[in-house]
Order: sequence, then structure tokens, then C-alpha cells
Amino acid sequence: MARIGFIGLGNMGGPMARNLVKAGHAVACFDLSAAAMAAVTGARAAGSAAEAAAGADFVITMLPAGQHVRDAVLGAGGIAASSPPDAVLIDCSTIDVATARAVAEGCGRAFLDAPVSGGVMGAEGATLTFMVGGEDSAFAKAAPILQQMGRAVIHCGGAGAGQAAKACNNMMLAATMIVTAEAFVLAESLGLSHQALFDVASRSSGQSWSLTTYCPVPGPVPGSPANRGYQPGFSAALMLKDLGLAVGAAEAGGVATPVGARALDLYKAFVEQGGGGRDFSGIIDHLRQAKGG
Ligand code: NAD
Repeated sequence: MARIGFIGLGNMGGPMARNLVKAGHAVACFDLSAAAMAAVTGARAAGSAAEAAAGADFVITMLPAGQHVRDAVLGAGGIAASSPPDAVLIDCSTIDVATARAVAEGCGRAFLDAPVSGGVMGAEGATLTFMVGGEDSAFAKAAPILQQMGRAVIHCGGAGAGQAAKACNNMMLAATMIVTAEAFVLAESLGLSHQALFDVASRSSGQSWSLTTYCPVPGPVPGSPANRGYQPGFSAALMLKDLGLAVGAAEAGGVATPVGARALDLYKAFVEQGGGGRDFSGIIDHLRQAKGG
């Protein structure tokens, strides 16, 4: 049993914290929303992030963006100042690599960046994938805790490596989803059925997760969001956020990612036209509406 402070109990953090309570840990939680705290039955509701972090072996943050994490950890009365010196801080939010490295350097504690993939269903079912950056010794301490919220815990390297892996993975995901959706739209115009394209491409070199697990048209993969009107799942707004982090990192490093940059433009347009709350595979409707040159 460990003492765990958990800050940020939204769509992801709430179920993750509940899984830690279920695993028998003493969880002290904090969120700006009292209702979010009350939903984590069995945890102690703290009056501040600092109070949740006091006396903790591990302090987990699951917050919207880099600025929230920086403020919560390094800000006045923040987690860095209030947690015990031997505590391990674990940030599971998806944030930019530069902020993750700055917080790791500035907090004076063992710090891991540990963003996740698997979405709300993965958080609820404790089947998340954690991609982790930080020192070996901190990883060794934290891995058993992360395993109670997920089924894959991968040490990617030093500080920021987890966020780097998340940005690269989601840029690949966005690009394969867009090109898969484009192929279905092209097939429609050529008189080729969705099922026929699926049957061929899923056994050929066009195969990808976006096709075989998350197929953007209804029918071939009954569980994909296309079969329920593109309810997320993983929303286009979150994909746009993640693409912004990937393309921002590429620009900062002087790296050319032309397909990633184009994917960012397409998701931006989709979100601006009201698609932000839809699943990211719903971009197929946006592509259908676009006129070819
Ligand atoms: P969310 O908006 O549902 O939850 C964020 C929570 O943080 C809210 O409850 C909010 O009240 C709380 N919060 C904000 N500032 C705070 C502060 N200063 N102190 C305490 N609490 C504060 O977001 P989410 O969907 O749970 O996502 C959290 C993170 O996980 C994000 O970085 C997101 O990109 C990432 N992520 C989300 C998904 C997903 O499918 N939702 C998947 C993978 C990764």
C-alpha cells in the first residue's frame, strides 16, 4: 500500500484514481471541481494540491496542458515544495517536451513524464499504455503503481522521452487516419465498396491500426466510432492538441514534418467547422465535403 496524491480528476484522472483506490492505496485527491473529487469514492478529498501531496510516496498529475502542470508542480505552494523529498512525482498529462524537461529539472524531486494512450475506456478498464521518461531509479519505483492503471508500461528514456513518444505516435496516428479516410472517399468515387477495400487493404500493405481497429467507415469493424455516429472515443479536439505539440516540437527543432503539418491544418479546419467534439475518425466527413482540385 502506498500513499498517493492525485491531482486532476477529469475524464482520465477520475477513473485512474479510482483504480488506485481499488488496488488498496491510500489516495488523497484534489481537483478544482468538488464534484470530480466526490466521484472518487474511497479517496480523501484534499483542500489543495499541496495538501494532497503532503506525506505522499507518489504524486500523480493528470491535467489539461503544460502550463497547468508547471503551475501545479513549481508554483507557489505547489507540489514540489509540499511533497516529501523522496516522493516520486509522475505527470500523466499530455504536454510539450520542453515543459516536461523544465519541470523535471526544476522540481528537486524524482520526476517522471508518463503520458498515456488508451483513452477513457483504457483509464476505466486499467488497460492504458504508459510511455515514461525519467531516471531508471524513479521508473523502478513507479512502474508497479502505473501497472495498476494500465497493461503496458514502457520506459522510453530520460526526462521528456515519454512526451516525445506520445507526440510521435499521435502524429503517425493522425496521418494514417487521414489517408485511410481519404482512401475510402476515393473508393466511393470509383464505385468500390467499403467492405471490398477493407478486405483487401487489411490483408495488404495498406494495413494500419486506423483501418483494422478504428475503421473510419461503418461496417467493417463493428466497434469503431463510425458505427455510433463518430461519438468519441478520442475527440478531434484532443487530436488537434496532440498534433500541435508534435508540430511545435518539430518546428522548434528545425525538423521537417510536412505530413504532420498538413494533418494539423486538416484537424484545425475540422475543429473550426464544429468537429471538435466528434471522434477524430469523423474527419472523413470533412474530407468528403472538401472539393478536389
Ligand atoms: P479533463 O478536462 O476531463 O480533466 C482535467 C481535470 O483537471 C479537470 O477535472 C479540471 O478541473 C482539473 N484541473 C485543471 N486545473 C487544475 C488545477 N490547477 N488543480 C487541480 N485540478 C485541475 O481532461 P482529460 O480528458 O482527463 O485529460 C487529461 C490529460 O490527459 C490531458 O493532458 C489530455 O491531453 C490527456 N489525455 C486525454 C485522453 C482522453 O481520451 N481524454 C487520452 C489520452 C491523454
